[in-house]
Amino acid sequence: MARKFFVGGNWKCNGTTEEVKKIVTTLNEAEVPSHDVVEVVVSPPFVFIPPVKDLLRPDFQVAAQNCWVRKGGAFTGEVSAEMLVNLSVPWVILGHSERRSLLNESNEFVGDKVAYALSQGLKVIACIGETLEQRESGSTMAVVAAQTKAIAEKVTNWTNVVLAYEPVWAIGTGKVATPAQAQEVHLELRKWLHDNVCAEVAASTRIIYGGSVNGANCKELAAKPDVDGFLVGGASLKPEFIDIIKSAT
Ligand code: PGA
Repeated sequence: MARKFFVGGNWKCNGTTEEVKKIVTTLNEAEVPSHDVVEVVVSPPFVFIPPVKDLLRPDFQVAAQNCWVRKGGAFTGEVSAEMLVNLSVPWVILGHSERRSLLNESNEFVGDKVAYALSQGLKVIACIGETLEQRESGSTMAVVAAQTKAIAEKVTNWTNVVLAYEPVWAIGTGKVATPAQAQEVHLELRKWLHDNVCAEVAASTRIIYGGSVNGANCKELAAKPDVDGFLVGGASLKPEFIDIIKSAT
């Protein structure tokens, strides 16, 4: 089954009004493969979502970087899935390792968030990945399987889920996984989906890689059969994000 290449830009907690305008202008002027070939989603901080949505070219979409685990209400400082839907924000990133580690988001909490966001009609980029210590102790697959299981237990329809494998040791470190390392985990994840969800979901779910992806290393990673795209942090704020989008072809 053909899986459309997916490139997400995670802007994290960066940017000013002026900088955001500049990034969007660069994206809008870029010549990239058509939407039939690559799905491009950029994820600004919440406060910049409305202006980015207004300015961004129509073939690119917007994602939030988080949303609340259930219906909104008395949860100071949170943004609900309903609000994102109300603003016509189609995507949300959930379970990013920075939130898992800095804000203690557990596998179960992330699973609940993914299920709730999907139930409200959002599409989800669900992030998983092991730390350096876990990799070195040989538990990479056990860790990502447990993270995926916590999601799979709560999710019945995977159509609107993109799984982002982001080894923690590669995020923001400049230490990218080798194409072989990425492919190995992506293939194992696909096998896990096959054995624990179903063959159809394993074949159709996009598994994207994140962690120090840049304009120079994206081509080789993209060539791997089970790497269906990228979630890009640092480089998504720079013009080289265009080169990463182009690695779809
Ligand atoms: P990075 O971040 O590309 O800066 O390593 C990736 C991510 O956190 O999604």
